[in-house]
Amino acid sequence: MLEIKNLQTRFRTDNGEITVLDGVSFQINKGETIGVVGESGCGKSVTSLSIMGLLPRTARITGGEILYNGENLVAFSKDQMRKVRGKEIAMIFQEPMTSLNPVYTIGAQIMELVLNHTSMNKKQAKEHAIQMLKLVGIPRAEEIVDEYPHQLSGGMRQRVMIAMAMSCSPSLLVADEPTTALDVTIQAQILDLMRELQQKSEMTIMLITHDLGVVAEMCDRVVVMYAGQVVEEAEVEKLFATPKHPYTVGLLGSIPDMDTEQEYLFTIGGTVPSPGQMPPGCRFAERCQKAMDKCYEQAPPLFDVNDGTKSRCWLYE
Ligand code: SF4
Ligand code: MG
Repeated sequence: MLEIKNLQTRFRTDNGEITVLDGVSFQINKGETIGVVGESGCGKSVTSLSIMGLLPRTARITGGEILYNGENLVAFSKDQMRKVRGKEIAMIFQEPMTSLNPVYTIGAQIMELVLNHTSMNKKQAKEHAIQMLKLVGIPRAEEIVDEYPHQLSGGMRQRVMIAMAMSCSPSLLVADEPTTALDVTIQAQILDLMRELQQKSEMTIMLITHDLGVVAEMCDRVVVMYAGQVVEEAEVEKLFATPKHPYTVGLLGSIPDMDTEQEYLFTIGGTVPSPGQMPPGCRFAERCQKAMDKCYEQAPPLFDVNDGTKSRCWLYE
């Protein structure tokens, strides 16, 4: 459904242009939930904004393709992207307040999308907005539809975001840390809701998260990103059972262990190198316990491992 090929996205800074995504490639199959994981600053959000055509003004795609059902979104005009966004591909963010407009009612915001993307009239659009609010489990939907975002709790706002995103039945939902700002109980409810909606609508989901617990629960396949590149791609069971890339191994070691009440078993020392200051060899070498001489000199390509996993590491040459 979506194939990202060798995507390169650069940002303008005071010190010149820096490459933030450097040859990102992966594909999303129809109907699956794919997880994109990695520490903050690895390029997860920039990947989703590149797909949506919502990069900030200081950023641009300088190479590669984003093929959606065979059409290259990178070559689309702003107008063409506006038609795709919301109708074909919708997105939800971590903090709904940044994407909900405070001066319009919830209903008006859902209606605007529906009126733009479908042939419904105003009355039908309002009715549809109420239906969508009910679908995402919002009580008193007939009243909430006329309320403003600040009148709702964080969990309810996130439900409204999902209702908005779902309002034109997109084929692909891109969810960037959709539950990170929510407490654990609400988080579980929102994830359940997404799963339920996916089953009803055969929607494809790209779920960006730093939470591997969420990945284990929700995803079929996982893409691990590090320093602007994909370093591992695997089916979810394989990722957890036999992680390949040393970075993935480190991430899995960082899952809080409930049994021992230790908050973290192991955290990877060091930090992600900054864009513009990438080392010549493997970008993880400074933090890798398995690093060899070669790793400091030559950047590893993404190797195919024989179990179908991909790993950007010389250990799999
Ligand atoms: Fe570690 Fe070398 Fe593999 Fe990089 S290529 S992850 S430094 S072993
Ligand atoms: Mg992010």
